[in-house]
Amino acid sequence: MTANETFTEAGRDFIRDIVAADLAAKRHTQIVTRFPPEPNGYLHVGHAKSIALNFGIAEEFGGRCHLRFDDTNPTKEEREYIDAIERDVRWLGYDWGKHLYHASDYFEQLYEWAECLIRDGKAYVDDQPQDEMRANRGTLTEPGRNSPFRDRSVAENLDLFRRMRAGEFPNGARVLRAKIDMAAGNINLRDPALYRILNAPHPRTGTKWHIYPSYDFAHGQSDAIEGVTHSICTLEFEDHRPLYDWFLENLPVPSRPRQYEFARLNMTYMLLSKRVLTELVRGGHVAGWDDPRMPTIAGLRRRGVPPAAIRDFVKRIGVAKANSVVDVAMFEHSVREVLNRTALRRMAVLRPLKIVVENYPQEQSEELEAINHPDEQAAGTRRIRFGRELYIERDDFMEQPPKKFFRLSPGAEVRLRYAYFVTCRDVMKNAAGEPVELRCTYDPATKGGNALDGRKVKATMHWVSAADAVPAEVRLYNPLFTKPDPSASDFAADLNPNSVEVLADAKLEPALAADDLADPVQFERQGYFVRDADSRPGRPVFNRTVGLRDTWAKVSGGG
Ligand code: ATP
Ligand code: MG
Repeated sequence: MTANETFTEAGRDFIRDIVAADLAAKRHTQIVTRFPPEPNGYLHVGHAKSIALNFGIAEEFGGRCHLRFDDTNPTKEEREYIDAIERDVRWLGYDWGKHLYHASDYFEQLYEWAECLIRDGKAYVDDQPQDEMRANRGTLTEPGRNSPFRDRSVAENLDLFRRMRAGEFPNGARVLRAKIDMAAGNINLRDPALYRILNAPHPRTGTKWHIYPSYDFAHGQSDAIEGVTHSICTLEFEDHRPLYDWFLENLPVPSRPRQYEFARLNMTYMLLSKRVLTELVRGGHVAGWDDPRMPTIAGLRRRGVPPAAIRDFVKRIGVAKANSVVDVAMFEHSVREVLNRTALRRMAVLRPLKIVVENYPQEQSEELEAINHPDEQAAGTRRIRFGRELYIERDDFMEQPPKKFFRLSPGAEVRLRYAYFVTCRDVMKNAAGEPVELRCTYDPATKGGNALDGRKVKATMHWVSAADAVPAEVRLYNPLFTKPDPSASDFAADLNPNSVEVLADAKLEPALAADDLADPVQFERQGYFVRDADSRPGRPVFNRTVGLRDTWAKVSGGG
């Protein structure tokens, strides 16, 4: 497969082709898919790929998609995760309607099917200690060895399994295993575990169960119970497919789902693994699951990434069967594309430098009109105030400018956006020799930003009037890791110590102080920003979603 094949036209891919062919051949009348998260962490952008695929296919082919919690491991599950997962799937724009399910809904049925296998001589209770069981499993090159308990009678197996269920044995004392083939080339078929003893309460079934089914024993049968037609999962489950099929062939299931595998999403500078993300949170390396540096859906939302950008990105990367790593620049490109269309323009000075317009009358100020969006007339205009004292960006001034620096420097004239031309006359400095204030003059004949005599300036700069500037905190985010391919096992070593930069002294135009401002905005010349939940009345906090520069558009020749 070439790299290009992963970029599919008009949302077609090999899975959609299979679905379309199945419908055409009337193998199914309605398509049913499912998204099956384990509620042991928050969803990340990799999950978004799977969500968009499963819900997208159901939508496009007039079928339905179930949200099913794979809650077979009660010790790792929490209510918080269940709520977060539901919220995030909805926020991404998908709806499971009344089709919300839990693997635990099927515990009784799964148990009965386990007894079926025992009665058919296809499952047995194994008393081997865990390490022995592992040692006897063999390796990729060596077959496994049969357990000494493999040939127990049906009656003995039934009795032991029922006592396992009744809670007579301590954790891990026995397991129920399928009796398949200890010499199978595929290790998943070497008598896989179906049930283990775990004397732990379950968030939904309480203390009813002392045994819990394995992922493999629960998954395909849950699909079959729900009438799932296409069970779509990531490539690491490809080797589990023969087992998935074995259960369906050996049990009286009500329908016959098929499993298809696709490549998981990997992205540069990110680790899309719930284990790592959990450790980042527990270890205090980030402020929480929704820290804007996290690749979680909650983190991206708090960062200001719109759901449409995630959907657009996922469509662009397509669905393939070969693993690859996507450049984060491509993700940011999708974010910019959506925000460029939707974000209102505002002015904010992140690192302020004061300027005093000496020839502007002391007590005077005036209102100027500023447009809210350059391509959307309907977005309208707003009034901004100009006065004698203003803030500009510190980087927009250089006392000794190099040749191509056209912004402000002593003697230079620039345009202040929507306002006037100003010329820098003098620089006031502190004891350390740093500029702390510029003395400027303005040309009243340039109101609106054009000179009547036709003279040109090379720079247009944003600014905020000092009299009504709103002080704010602005948080700039950099990649969480220093390397494009951080180590999953030793991720702490690759953490970026400068992943967040806090600017405590930013100055915003007053429109940005509105408490109900929820949508991201563009700070002109700076990037896209969104108000953070840490904002307090009179003290907004903004997160930078993404800067304006688009490296992906350059690389790909598009955009
Ligand atoms: P992790 O590997 O992060 O621990 P997981 O696979 O254990 O995730 P689940 O809750 O079991 O997490 O995942 C639910 C679904 O999301 C599964 O079908 C899984 O295949 C899919 N999925 C998980 N990670 C990705 C990814 N990076 N790209 C695409 N799909 C993914
Ligand atoms: Mg999983």
